[in-house]
Amino acid sequence: MFVDKVKIFVASGNGGNGAVAFHREKFVASGGPDGGDGGRGGDIILEADPNMSTLMDFRYKRKYVAGNGMDGSGKRCSGKDGDSLTIKVPSGTVVRDSDTGAIINDMSAVSPFVLARGGKGGWGNQHFATPTRQAPRFSKPGMEGEKKEVILELKLLADVGLVGFPNVGKSTLLSVVSKAHPKIANYHFTTLYPNLGVVYAGEYSSFVMADIPGIIEGASEGAGLGHDFLRHIDRCRLLVHVVDISGSEGRDPIADFDAINAELKQYSPELASRPMIVAANKCDISENGELAQKFREYVTALGYELHEISAAAHIGVSELVNSIAKRLSSLPPIAVFEADYVAPEAEIGTAEALRITRCDDVWSVDGKWLESLLRRVNFGDYESRMYFDRALRTSGLFERLEEMGINEGDTVSIYDIEFEYRR
Ligand code: GDP
Ligand code: MG
Repeated sequence: MFVDKVKIFVASGNGGNGAVAFHREKFVASGGPDGGDGGRGGDIILEADPNMSTLMDFRYKRKYVAGNGMDGSGKRCSGKDGDSLTIKVPSGTVVRDSDTGAIINDMSAVSPFVLARGGKGGWGNQHFATPTRQAPRFSKPGMEGEKKEVILELKLLADVGLVGFPNVGKSTLLSVVSKAHPKIANYHFTTLYPNLGVVYAGEYSSFVMADIPGIIEGASEGAGLGHDFLRHIDRCRLLVHVVDISGSEGRDPIADFDAINAELKQYSPELASRPMIVAANKCDISENGELAQKFREYVTALGYELHEISAAAHIGVSELVNSIAKRLSSLPPIAVFEADYVAPEAEIGTAEALRITRCDDVWSVDGKWLESLLRRVNFGDYESRMYFDRALRTSGLFERLEEMGINEGDTVSIYDIEFEYRR
């Protein structure tokens, strides 16, 4: 079974907790704080693998969890970082948010993509010693990892897409023009799956051609196989419309041509307006010269370039390939989809939901909503810092600190952020 769309759940690792510990040595009275930091949680990383051609591997395994960071310990020992998990996906896999369908990333480049970042490890008390605060009895908890449900959707990376009714000779054409290419040719050669082939046109030019199962009428409304597979030609720079002009099956080439174009248009007007070359196939057994002649006139009048070929008898095929290569050289590269996913704003909770621990003049604050807020704040950016500040005020945190007796100039410590309290 060909799998080209799956939903998976990923979770990056939690950060380990920081330790509270003090240096101990024989004959040394009271040592300084030496609690180590928690380790970082592992990331969930996606990597495009050009050797994969389906999302089959995800059919039975839907849950991917990276390792948690270990807690820190005494003697300044940091906890071990959690192991990151790299998930390989076929090149051309589009990653979407499962709730909104928004595109998170298009895995058509080779660079790895961090889908879920591991939680930071909490600081051990070694970080909190100052000349006036020599024995800090607190450390920071690690931050939680991210949990996400995403949809992986394969959209093949092909320059040219073959379209047409079933049985017109698309697969034959692909098999005649392309040589097996070990990197991408591991599609099963059957019309139930999309097939990819690399076509060499002359010494320096090559392109990738995709053969999808034949589109049938009503496909764009989900009537047949074709609909699902149309997404595989979404990225194509050029369409080659294969039509049987032999009349051998009693088909009318003009009606076929129009029907497929109407299907494409229903699926996506943009796709239907993609540059198109027409391949009038099976000219070797064309019983009705008039049918072919009429078709040629009809199509050329509409402004399409037309090639009469016989894929099976290898007639006109190399001319077609050369024309395709020539046309491609003037077309923009294969489409890459822009990410349009915007992380929802963190929910701002109440100060009551936070844990506040006091140690001398340091007020340490932590809690779930604060964690997810921190994950979204970029402290290098003024707007972002202001947003963070407003969120803390809205929550009522400062009122609560006041009630608990915070003084002007005390330190507020939130995970790895510290600031002086000012009214
Ligand atoms: P697809 O469904 O469009 O992929 O069509 P296929 O490539 O599977 O071909 C369908 C049938 O048409 C097969 O029996 C082929 O051998 C035959 N066929 C394909 N091209 C030609 C051609 O140029 N001439 C003749 N006579 N038969 C062809
Ligand atoms: Mg086929």
